Amino acid sequence: MIHYSLLIGGKKVDTGETYDVISPGTGEVIATVAKGSPAEVDAAVAAAEAAFENSGWRDTPMHERAAVIERAAAALEARGEEISMLSARENGTPVRLAQGLSVGFPVAHMRYYADLARKYVQDHPTMVAGTVVGMIRREPIGVVAGIVPWNFPLLLAVWKSIPAIAAGNSIVLKVDEKTPATGLILAELLRESGLPDGVFNIITGDGPEVGGYLTAHPRVRKVSFTGSTATGRTVMRNAADNVKQVTLELGGKGANIVLADADLDLAVDGSLWAFLVHAGQACESGTRLYVHKDIYGDFVKRLVARAEGLTVGDPTDPGTDIGPLMNCSQYDRVTGFVAGAIAAGATVAFQAPLPDSLHPDGQWVAPTVFTDVTADMSIATDEIFGPVVSVIEFDDVDAVIAAANASEYGLSAGVWTTDYARATEIANRLQAGTVWINDWHNLPGPLPFGGVKQSGFGREMGPHAIEEFTNEKSICIDYSGREARAAWGLMFS
Ligand code: NAD
Repeated sequence: MIHYSLLIGGKKVDTGETYDVISPGTGEVIATVAKGSPAEVDAAVAAAEAAFENSGWRDTPMHERAAVIERAAAALEARGEEISMLSARENGTPVRLAQGLSVGFPVAHMRYYADLARKYVQDHPTMVAGTVVGMIRREPIGVVAGIVPWNFPLLLAVWKSIPAIAAGNSIVLKVDEKTPATGLILAELLRESGLPDGVFNIITGDGPEVGGYLTAHPRVRKVSFTGSTATGRTVMRNAADNVKQVTLELGGKGANIVLADADLDLAVDGSLWAFLVHAGQACESGTRLYVHKDIYGDFVKRLVARAEGLTVGDPTDPGTDIGPLMNCSQYDRVTGFVAGAIAAGATVAFQAPLPDSLHPDGQWVAPTVFTDVTADMSIATDEIFGPVVSVIEFDDVDAVIAAANASEYGLSAGVWTTDYARATEIANRLQAGTVWINDWHNLPGPLPFGGVKQSGFGREMGPHAIEEFTNEKSICIDYSGREARAAWGLMFS
């Protein structure tokens, strides 16, 4: 049986207690991982702090930091097949999709961050007034905590750790105990690529106990958290005690708007992609599908016809389109929403038949399309995190924008139309951190990702990704050397 240890100060650490890592497609225990406690948080924070002070990483020239990140990206890419299969087994990402989500995006984003690091200018001379010169210096924050969920464990580990270390910080990353493997591989590859021990530490542990302790830790100066909105609130409260900086990437309920002039072939497939990627277990999914009344009937027919062609099955099989949900609590949550919607009067326009060949211990939930959904139903308001979409008819563009914006979430939204000027106007009015026009789930490195409202704040990727992990320092120099010019002349008579 494979066993994963924690990584603290460059050393593998076991604790005497373990979690089982269970494959969602089969229910099999595929590995064990050491279970961390507050004692390991203390050790990891101490190791990170020591590395921050003494390893020299924070003073390593940016081009050398970039080279370490690039070497690790190449090593990750070389292990792409293994990592895709690991994702399929560990969190049920269909292996074909995992090539993009679990390898392609992480590698591309690491290269983007490396490129940013290479061009990064730490000191900006900024003003001259007489004999006074100002300089803005960007400095690393210190020990940073990253906390990630199970749905995209490697991608999110990259988003937390790479810009943090590119900026010269040390990080303690709490991975989800259900998906520990790929974060550990990332940390190992960075070590092998030249990252000093202690700069990147990995722990696990029960969320409220260990995550809570980490986010309240007095030596941690920033928390970058991805997870649910409910946990995000707790993280923010815990971080307040020593006034930590916080970045929160939280839940979503993406509004996906299809105008009457949309290219229907594109919009139908794109809308399926929007809510079905990773069986809907993506924060930025498009799960409120607003379709203009002129095309509504035709659109729903086409959507169902295309959905019928998708294969639910073993995530390790390259022929599989939709895999299982993560675990039984996800299964209960999603099937509970489906049952609740039926009881509330929504119509099941499509529910994929689940093939008999599915493993009996897998967490299978049929992709489901609901119509006759009203704005007050929980499937229209709550994040389901499963393969379920609500199709809602609209007539008036202003009204649909108001409906889209009525959510407390604001992570993602989308518009399908052949009129790009109109699409841009609508995009400008949608309250979301990302708006896709004729696309979904595309996450290019140069575009910042994050939410508004209760989907969180702070951004990952984009041109300011490294700055998110720095403090600005103002340095003010008077090079006149003359007392007569100094402001304290105002004090002395
Ligand atoms: P979750 O909030 O339950 O857990 C996320 C992480 O936080 C886990 O590692 C967990 O152990 C830890 N945690 C739990 N309680 C904690 C506490 N009190 N203090 C600190 N850490 C704690 O979320 P989940 O159900 O595992 O993940 C799914 C959620 O993540 C969804 O809501 C989804 O929308 C969100 N998500 C957001 C993004 C984004 O970028 N906005 C990306 C992926 C997932």
